[in-house]
Amino acid sequence: MSEENASWAQRSDDVIIGTYARYPATMVKGEGCILTDAEGKEYLDCLAGIAVCSLGHCHPAVSDAVCAQAKQLVHVSNLYYTQPQTELAELLIENSFADQVFLANSGAEANEAAIKLARICAGHERYGIISLAGSFHGRTLATVAATGQPKFHEGFEPMPEGFSHAPFGNLNVLEAMITDQTCAIMCEPLQGEGGVRPLDVEYLKGLQDLCKKHDLLLIFDEIQTGIGRTGTFFAYEQLGVVPDIMTVAKALGNGLPIGAMLTRKEIAASLVPGTHGSTFGGNPVAAAAAVATLKIILEDGFLEDVREKADYLQKGLDDLAGRFPLLASGARGMGLLQGLVLTEKGVEQGGAIVKTLFDKGVLINFAGNAVLRFLPPLIISRDEIDRLLAALAEVLGECKV
Ligand code: PLP
Repeated sequence: MSEENASWAQRSDDVIIGTYARYPATMVKGEGCILTDAEGKEYLDCLAGIAVCSLGHCHPAVSDAVCAQAKQLVHVSNLYYTQPQTELAELLIENSFADQVFLANSGAEANEAAIKLARICAGHERYGIISLAGSFHGRTLATVAATGQPKFHEGFEPMPEGFSHAPFGNLNVLEAMITDQTCAIMCEPLQGEGGVRPLDVEYLKGLQDLCKKHDLLLIFDEIQTGIGRTGTFFAYEQLGVVPDIMTVAKALGNGLPIGAMLTRKEIAASLVPGTHGSTFGGNPVAAAAAVATLKIILEDGFLEDVREKADYLQKGLDDLAGRFPLLASGARGMGLLQGLVLTEKGVEQGGAIVKTLFDKGVLINFAGNAVLRFLPPLIISRDEIDRLLAALAEVLGECKV
């Protein structure tokens, strides 16, 4: 590690609780797809803050909106109305199935709101939520309980009551788990943290049918897949299944912390004054950033361009799998949420591949102990995709097989 990076890393490790295993770089600047560290080294960011900076770092329209709002009104209690909140909710509603929105500060908080809504809507005896094995829904206690990966529960038991996990992709087992207490089924249309695993369209339709049959609410967690990431504004648009409740966050504010829960009016009606809230939820600066972000993502041609670049990236990754079959078996994903599926030999070296790419100045990550995950800014150019693929080819070529 270079001196400047090392000194910041040491200062940080002394004072910040070590919940992250960090790479040895202190990032000081971002522009487009490029991050710069404290030593001036540049990185091609193909993670975008884990699906957050979809318009790239410091997009001028978002930065201008943040600056303008910060000079006008930074915070006011949710006891009063603000213009950016209303505009943001209107944009989300105009472009989704929903009629109303609750604004939060993060993905986990949006999911907490969804869980509370499903419970209050169903009444006191019905509180059970079935989610899927391999899912990821957040780090608060309720969302960690909803998360279908035991490693996130360890050390924090007992988990809050009312959460169970159905095996991935098996409708019969899921139906057998439904009881008189169940109020909702919750899933990501494509599991991001779980290893870029798309859910089959027929399976999702089956989930919707089960919800209708057993009077349950269907909750889609589109925190990672939403806001254009998969090539449509929301992933559900491609799947032909419309949820009752949907959560978004991550890319919503292009880097400003904001999340949202969307639903229909008759469901939202259960949340009356005093039932839920957040001091900062829908903060004017974060909401102004989100309005500026959505206006660009919703511009004509923007998502079409994402779909074209996604095909290009997926094809490039498939080609790499063809060249390195002992390490990778192929690409999977939707839009610019792509995973290169590693073989057993590849998985053994997954962490090392990501670190070597980091050393070469390209940022990706290893997800679900199964795939190399690519979440570049949606504005990434073809040249930048070529740079990513070339660097990856070089690193795969250096791996032990
Ligand atoms: N849900 C999904 C699908 C996610 O990918 C994440 C974060 O990775 C979350 C929820 C939690 O979001 P946050 O970290 O903003 O709380």
